[in-house]
Amino acid sequence: MKNDLPAGTGAAADAAATPAIEFKDVSLRFISQDGNATVALRNFSMAVARGEFVAIVGPTGCGKSTTLNMITGLLNPTVGSVEVMGQPVKGIDPRIGFVFQADAVFPWRSVRNNVAAGPLFRGKSKKDALALADEWIEKVGLAKFGDHYPHQLSGGMRKRVALAQTFINNPEILLMDEPFSALDMQTRTMMQDELLQLWGSTGGSVVFITHDLEEAIALADRVFVLSARPGTLKRVYEIDLPRPRVMSEVRYDPGFVELSKKIWEDLKN
Ligand code: ADP
Repeated sequence: MKNDLPAGTGAAADAAATPAIEFKDVSLRFISQDGNATVALRNFSMAVARGEFVAIVGPTGCGKSTTLNMITGLLNPTVGSVEVMGQPVKGIDPRIGFVFQADAVFPWRSVRNNVAAGPLFRGKSKKDALALADEWIEKVGLAKFGDHYPHQLSGGMRKRVALAQTFINNPEILLMDEPFSALDMQTRTMMQDELLQLWGSTGGSVVFITHDLEEAIALADRVFVLSARPGTLKRVYEIDLPRPRVMSEVRYDPGFVELSKKIWEDLKN
């Protein structure tokens, strides 16, 4: 039957309006082998819209990685619910991509073969997977390094491989856990720009974990600030700095300076 509804209504619009990720009043308690309980996260709610870039900031141990582990289904909430695209999380979802602090590259594979791994795993022919890998290797500026092995690359170059490896799968949701924290300042700034460019051309949602408040403000649409153990949501900040943003410049934007002053002030209190 023909759908006579005007554009912007119906099932497609409903799907677009459903958050990519939704935590509803989630608490998570770990029970260790000796029976001790640790509350890692308490009464946490967060909805991440399609295409939104959210950063979660907080001190070490406040439950940031735990939130990501609940989105992937590695951990289940003790109380509350976590949904991805409107459905309860049930194990690893192929629509989700990850970039962590440690590089997830196969050391015995060339850059090309590392980047082609995802499409191959998802059933593409070797020829198509390698052709696609070449496109992505070029996009992240490593065109001359396709036949190199990870140990022959710098830390920043390995991060570029990690980004190509992830974006090649067209993730609708990208989870990043302190992805650039091991890099020097200059390389880090370059990688942040690279990430924003790649994200800008895909339209996926990002959850970016960091303990660096300035990094969170510079990258995100909204910043969720968690307090120390047990992790509770202290506040959410809208970051209305215009896009596209250039990392080396955004830090000098008066709006950025004002926001970071305000958030630091709140954190002190
Ligand atoms: P963050 O990423 O913010 O540094 P985590 O989410 O890794 O923090 O951890 C939150 C808290 O939960 C920490 O206090 C940590 O020690 C504790 N924790 C994490 N995983 C486990 C586990 N498997 N068993 C017991 N406690 C855990």
